Amino acid sequence: MTLPAIIVHGGATVFKEKFHEAIKKAVTEAARIGMCVFDNGGSSLDAVESAIYVLEETELFTAGRGACKNLDGEIELDAMIMDGNRLESGAVMAVRDIIHPISLARYVLERTHNYQIVGGGANKLYTKMIAEGYREEVEPNRSATPMISAECDTVGAIAVDAQGRIASASSTSGWSGKLPGRVGDSAIIGSGVYANDIAAASCTGRGEQILRIVMGRMAVYHVEQGKTVAEASELVMSELRQKTSGEAGLIMADHRGNLALAFDTPHMPTAVVNSELDVPYYSLKPKWPLSL
Ligand code: ASP
Repeated sequence: MTLPAIIVHGGATVFKEKFHEAIKKAVTEAARIGMCVFDNGGSSLDAVESAIYVLEETELFTAGRGACKNLDGEIELDAMIMDGNRLESGAVMAVRDIIHPISLARYVLERTHNYQIVGGGANKLYTKMIAEGYREEVEPNRSATPMISAECDTVGAIAVDAQGRIASASSTSGWSGKLPGRVGDSAIIGSGVYANDIAAASCTGRGEQILRIVMGRMAVYHVEQGKTVAEASELVMSELRQKTSGEAGLIMADHRGNLALAFDTPHMPTAVVNSELDVPYYSLKPKWPLSL
């Protein structure tokens, strides 16, 4: 495969037809921006943060500006970013009223000695991040009737730079009407997201099922054991189906830039771009192998 490379998804779920065009535009744009980051000398962490930021900015996904409310009518977001080579990550959980938890997760990774920050502590850290000028403040405006196209979906991205360094990330508000304080898989290291120097995974779907098989880490383990990322994605999906009720999906990449995905929901909008593709490959229900 060709490096650098990036793969982006908009959630394993079902999207209403009236949103399909907008979703295509958003996911494709996220992949394209991730690639531009590489063109401008950025790292794979910069690429995944930027790709997720683009998706959080739309109202199309239950993440960022399109986040859905919990049982108390509040918005609580989870996000995680992981650097495969450093084997280090940053995550925030149940953080309230911000638009870009992915940047806060990056701040946790880069500027603290901790990996996972929850609730009020994460909001306090957000204030510190803005005060330090690490990222610009974004007004947490949300329209009264966001264009939420699915009950639930997570956005995710994996990028591999020209040297084969991998970063993986995800961002979500989880399920509409979830219990206040509920945290799914997305920001839990090894479940929703995992990356090392061999491979990476970013998962989406029913967090309570994904957590049970520690899906992200399992997927990467299969690659360490000699499977291709395509085989590992299928294998971990079949483990999920056998041991739980399934309904999930994942994207994967290895350090050579091989990409793969698997899902068992009607849709998992996915865009892929590498240095050979002029425009990102996109599909709402991608079939593997992708005809790049
Ligand atoms: N996995 C996310 C969660 O359970 C939701 C999703 O991926 O759609 O919070």
